[in-house]
Amino acid sequence: MSTIPGVGIGLGVAQGPVARMAAPLPAPANDPSPLSAQDETARVREAVHAVARELEERGALAGGAARDVLEAQAMMAEDPSLESEVDTRLAAGATAEWAVHDAFASFRDTLTAVGGYLGERAADLDDVAQRVIARLRGEPAPGVPDPGHPFVLVATDLAPADTALLDLDQVLALITSEGGPTSHTAILAREKGIVAIVGAAEAARLADDETVIVDAAAGVVVTEPTEEELQRAHNRADARANAASAPITPGALADGTAVPLLANLGKPDGAAEAVELGAEGVGLFRTEFLFLSSTNAPTVAQQRESYRQLLAAFRGKKVVVRALDAGADKPLAFLNDAHEENPALGLRGLRALRANEDILREQLTALAEADADVRAGGEAADLWVMAPMVSTVEETSYFVTLAREYGIKTAGVMVEVPSSALLADRVLREADFASIGTNDLTQYTLAADRLLGSVASFQDPWHPAVLSLIRTTGRAGADLGKPVGICGEAAADPLLAVVLVGLGATSLSMAPSALADVRATLLQYGLDDARRIAEAALAANDAASARIAAREAATA
Ligand code: PEP
Ligand code: MG
Repeated sequence: MSTIPGVGIGLGVAQGPVARMAAPLPAPANDPSPLSAQDETARVREAVHAVARELEERGALAGGAARDVLEAQAMMAEDPSLESEVDTRLAAGATAEWAVHDAFASFRDTLTAVGGYLGERAADLDDVAQRVIARLRGEPAPGVPDPGHPFVLVATDLAPADTALLDLDQVLALITSEGGPTSHTAILAREKGIVAIVGAAEAARLADDETVIVDAAAGVVVTEPTEEELQRAHNRADARANAASAPITPGALADGTAVPLLANLGKPDGAAEAVELGAEGVGLFRTEFLFLSSTNAPTVAQQRESYRQLLAAFRGKKVVVRALDAGADKPLAFLNDAHEENPALGLRGLRALRANEDILREQLTALAEADADVRAGGEAADLWVMAPMVSTVEETSYFVTLAREYGIKTAGVMVEVPSSALLADRVLREADFASIGTNDLTQYTLAADRLLGSVASFQDPWHPAVLSLIRTTGRAGADLGKPVGICGEAAADPLLAVVLVGLGATSLSMAPSALADVRATLLQYGLDDARRIAEAALAANDAASARIAAREAATA
């Protein structure tokens, strides 16, 4: 056997025969058009319109995050600046096919150069171009293969239009050779619970029908697996399925130590599913999603309604809402400067809010009003509000003081910057609680952009430097009797969840789909075990050895 490394999405494992996505359509030739520019323009308009409507229809069928992604893609197809790029080429005598190909490619290069979130949208643009060109040629759009049996889908990168309608009875797992952990393939795979590995550059060498194991937890594709490896993978998949169907109990260790398991949500309509999966509250409500699609900040009334829905779904339970975290990977045109050289080190999170205090004040107003609305209609939720990207004690007191002005009783901060972790004893004297955002804490500790595939291997929260900062924060919380939750992706890794509790985390918040695995794993260890396993991980030199050390300590 041999392995192909990549970035695993989720913790699943699956096996099956490979089916490769068809190669993209060949690029059209740059020959002069036999038709008039006017006729070619009409052809392009018809094709773009048809593709945009088809994307919207697929979105409506798929629902959820897929709908948002496909609607965004449809908008991209009809973007006016793209249209004028196409028109310029048509006016110069190009064919419709070439004009679309060339204009989209130049737009793609612009996005790639911007990098980050926009760079990762470049693949979406390629997909739209392919669909339009296929339509112009009267050919079917390239898409997911149908070998007639369940398969492991291998592609360069998947377009949202393809992932949205994947037949989950047929697709056992996904492997892409491009795409990072925040690509749409990754986002949608996470949402649908598909076993996936992205950014596996060597996947290009996989052949149709060869059997592979896709081990997302380990971040590898195993090729030419032995019978024994296939059996082991099969047993792991079974154990996972059993964990998912185990009775839902409150999060706890084997010795009864309570570890509340909470949900990370971006929209109130995810609440019902989270509750069904046993979320004991919300540990992170990312309010950016209310803002991302608008060109202006939503009004207080719009925000109030959204927060009201959220709080009403969790009456009697804790709900931690994060103030708007704009900037870097989540830029907002009306709040952030598009020209920062290093947006992750710029005016993001609380810094951006402080520079636009009216937006923060409106958000706090909407939250306080929504809380009052829900209280007036029955049992209230336990509303906690926290600030993102806090890097100093002074910022902590600024935020807590402001939140109190609006009657917010529990105000805290996210620990995402090493400075806040190192001074957690002082930060937590000001704040009512801390919530560790391991995604950013890892990015800033290892100096590795969380959106960049080329440094994805650094972006590993198992790194002992990250664990050490978490321990410092956990200890400060224990000394002061203040809660320290975890709300980054790390909390969704079952063994790491045990380590985090051993380092002092008092609650864990994650994507609802991860709750069952984490719940089942916590129940296997007592607090003393968790501390011992954490010590083993902390003593390692790097993330990979920390993982191995924790695994060994967990089975000792
Ligand atoms: C984090 O950084 O870990 C976090 C939870 O916040 P976000 O991923 O939204 O930046
Ligand atoms: Mg963050």
